[in-house]
Amino acid sequence: YLLPNQGDNIIRTPNQKYEFSEKSLGVVLFKQMKKYSDDIAQIDAVTEASDTHGMLLKRSIRTAVEMQNRGVTKGDIICICSSNNLNSCVPYLAGLFIGAKVSALDPIMSYEDMKHLLNQVPPSIIFAADESEQSLKEIISDLNLLTTDIIPFNSIAFEAFLSEKLDENEFKPVIVNDVFETAVIFFSSGTTGLAKGICINHYTLLQQSPAFKMLGFDLNIVLSFASLYWISAINLLISSLLYGQTRLLVPDFDEDQTWQLIDKFKVTTLLMSSTQATLLIKSNKPPHLKFESLKHVTIGGAPVSLNLFNGLEKTFPRAKVIQGYGWTEVGGIITISSPNSSQDLMLLENKPLSCGRPIPGIWYKLVDLETEKALGPNKRGELRLKTDYQMNGYYNMDSSNAWDSQGWIRTGDICYYDEDYCFYVIDRLKELIKYRGWHVSPALLEGILVKHPAVKMAVVIGVPHDQDNEHPLALVMLTNKDNNTINEDQLRKFVDDQVDDNKKLRAGVRFIEDMPKTPTGKVRRYFLKMQILSQIFNN
Ligand code: AMP
Repeated sequence: YLLPNQGDNIIRTPNQKYEFSEKSLGVVLFKQMKKYSDDIAQIDAVTEASDTHGMLLKRSIRTAVEMQNRGVTKGDIICICSSNNLNSCVPYLAGLFIGAKVSALDPIMSYEDMKHLLNQVPPSIIFAADESEQSLKEIISDLNLLTTDIIPFNSIAFEAFLSEKLDENEFKPVIVNDVFETAVIFFSSGTTGLAKGICINHYTLLQQSPAFKMLGFDLNIVLSFASLYWISAINLLISSLLYGQTRLLVPDFDEDQTWQLIDKFKVTTLLMSSTQATLLIKSNKPPHLKFESLKHVTIGGAPVSLNLFNGLEKTFPRAKVIQGYGWTEVGGIITISSPNSSQDLMLLENKPLSCGRPIPGIWYKLVDLETEKALGPNKRGELRLKTDYQMNGYYNMDSSNAWDSQGWIRTGDICYYDEDYCFYVIDRLKELIKYRGWHVSPALLEGILVKHPAVKMAVVIGVPHDQDNEHPLALVMLTNKDNNTINEDQLRKFVDDQVDDNKKLRAGVRFIEDMPKTPTGKVRRYFLKMQILSQIFNN
């Protein structure tokens, strides 16, 4: 399906459009939920209670109407902070039905992270799970967000919210003016700096969410652990509603419980981050379980080691283990192997470390970091993409740097592809560090480090880690290196005491004498990172 090479090292795919082409995601979902109203939409793995698409639709309409009654309309932002349960997606869908923009936080996020994100993207209404309600109230008051309404979001409070008597049949979802309007705001640190809101439009979600199904994954019963904060969860939610399929919901990832769930609920596709997959294969698999229903095990979000891939293949011999490479800024997948394509599967046998092949609708170019020239096979460079599936930009920010001068979006990932167009992600040019899937912003940690009087300059990099993706390491130049009274461990503690657990300097602090700089005086971060990593791994 790749278009002929035009000799310019650009990998072109046809601009295939999936079947849902209406303007508004909310309208499409509304129609599809009606169509599949008797089929099971979601099962709570803890309580075993379930919802049909029709029941879910009914609660979502009631929530939409209640929000409208409270004055929430098209221009507003709605935020949901909840772990997965049968109600968590209800306000999300309701928000889409009224044409508002939707965002989500994860209750395990720290107070500071939530505060930063709510300051970036202030919502009109927040649905707050019990464990986060108090913090969210304090944040709203700290930020002086006077008009933000907090709705307690446990089953009892939410029932009361839904109680209004109305005829659901009279409700009509709001049509947005333009399919490229923002539908959902995700959070990420982009290629530099602190976390920000990524504005994803209706079109991107309508084209990207069906991709899993179109590429041949069996989504009859999907188990994934991501909360609505993550794009993978939203892609799966939308896809299950579009095709009348079932999501199995669990509030948290628990490796020992996962074995039982796959078997008990006859899961057909299991979607995991590489950290979850590593924890799972390290835990004790009950010997009697055979996982006969499981067809596809999909992993991604961070590099996958050969050990992990082989471990999964051994654990699930009947299933196809497939790695995907995704990015929130393009609304989901960048590359993946398709279980529908015998060629892809044959290639995957010999190239387990590849993160897959191009998908329709995206053009790919690998760019030499010095010359900006597009590179051919087996050459490493920054991956840039041209596609209609992409963000509108970062919320309320000048985002022009996200694209190059020819309109290609910069992934900030260093990749290569081979002669079969199998892709490999080998490093990250962008600053963001990933710890267990969470973004750790070097800028945040560097900001804390330079507040210490002994620190002249600091750069934080990610050191690869088998299970956790990466551990942050601080490289520090001291103000007075000859008369220094602090040691590396003390400085590490100075930072760790001020940040939440997922941002701690797990790879420690290293004092260095100098930092390589560009002619304009900026630190050559990537070069420095390569130097330090080669020292670490050659020792
Ligand atoms: P996010 O910003 O959370 O959407 O994460 C996207 C980033 O995660 C990508 O730009 C890559 O840096 C990384 N990533 C995602 N999938 C993979 C993969 N299969 N292998 C290596 N890195 C990945």
